[in-house]
Amino acid sequence: MAATSLAAAPFRQHKPDKLRQLGIMSLNGMFDEMDGVGVLRQAATDLLKDDIAIVSSFGADSAVLLHMVSEVDRTLPVCFLETGKHFPETLDYVATLERALGLSNVIALRPDDKDVLRFDPGGDLWETDPDSCCHVRKTEPLDVAVSGFGGWVTGRKRYQTAERGVLPHFELTSDDRIKVNPLAYFSDADITAYKLKYGLPEHPLYTKGYKSIGCAPCTSVVAEGEDPRAGRWRGLNKKECGIHFDFNGAIAKPMAAEDLTLFKDGAFIADPFRAWSEGDDAASVRYTHVPLPVFLAQRDAFLANPHPLGLLVAPGDNVELAAPDLSRFASVAIAFPGFTDGRGYSSARLVVERHGYKGEVRAVGDVLADQIPLMRRCGITAFVVRHEPTRKALREGKLATVDVFYQPVGKTEVPLGTRPFLRRAVENV
Ligand code: SF4
Repeated sequence: MAATSLAAAPFRQHKPDKLRQLGIMSLNGMFDEMDGVGVLRQAATDLLKDDIAIVSSFGADSAVLLHMVSEVDRTLPVCFLETGKHFPETLDYVATLERALGLSNVIALRPDDKDVLRFDPGGDLWETDPDSCCHVRKTEPLDVAVSGFGGWVTGRKRYQTAERGVLPHFELTSDDRIKVNPLAYFSDADITAYKLKYGLPEHPLYTKGYKSIGCAPCTSVVAEGEDPRAGRWRGLNKKECGIHFDFNGAIAKPMAAEDLTLFKDGAFIADPFRAWSEGDDAASVRYTHVPLPVFLAQRDAFLANPHPLGLLVAPGDNVELAAPDLSRFASVAIAFPGFTDGRGYSSARLVVERHGYKGEVRAVGDVLADQIPLMRRCGITAFVVRHEPTRKALREGKLATVDVFYQPVGKTEVPLGTRPFLRRAVENV
């Protein structure tokens, strides 16, 4: 590694975490309005004092979080995943930021030699099995290091990917640690403005077209206007290295229970999306369900918009017209304006069955308990529900089941009116 003085990784005993009792929901409620450095200060000097580490990739945007660290406490442990696969420029950048920001506790987390010898003796695992490569070189070393802390800090932002679109300031991980995301609400422009304001050194590769920088074999230059993360694991169906896989596992937003209107994966959660409003700008709007006719009228602008968006399909809309662009949307909302209007079921089936849409499909409008089993059959997986008896039924898992249908879906549903022996045949498929 270039001139830098990285200490050995510490191994510490995990302390009992007082924050668990407070609950992540209250934490997010208390600090939702706080700016990034304020969130970091609260976490590092009060809530998780002496029990928190920073995890940094020393990539294109890392200087922002690390500058905040220098403002709060330069001795905080900063973990750098030294995978052995970084660009030399990244290793130089570690030394540059250490020096420029006065960070005195940068720790290199290296993969276990025995694991590398066993699983990646040729150093080319990234080519054939990048998930395993990331596991050996990132996830395992990080797990060992953070096991000694009650929480750790990441530099993730909401705008980066659709999966990060509801990222809160505080998350509870599946192993009961707290992940703190001081930059969760930062936009692309906020990052640039922050770097300029404090004159932060740029990663040497940034000006060469690398907008998101990880290991050298898995990072490529992005074209002008391309999503910055498109250069990571290009051509592979991979967006995260694995260290953040339990994202969303137990996040909560600072809202009252009645404001959590989106029922998804068995629980009511905060809805990151809102409805389209008159005056919204197609080029910059984010987390908004765009009505299908509005999308078609300004298609080019919406396709160039880098932010997560949803599509709203109302009765009478021709879904086929948006079919080539469905994968651009993180969510498709199907409108059910009234109990007696069944056109939404057909729209959902077209989106899911005919066009193979894999994102979230949600029902909005007059969503009632009796409809939900039928909606689920059509591929709808999320429901915006305001009707209190329906909310209660969902909370308690008391929805009616329907076993026989006029219009069966797939091979296993039984058409109403068929003879018993035919039903048995279908049931045995
Ligand atoms: S980013 Fe690539 S090289 Fe780095 S650990 Fe993951 S697969 Fe391996």
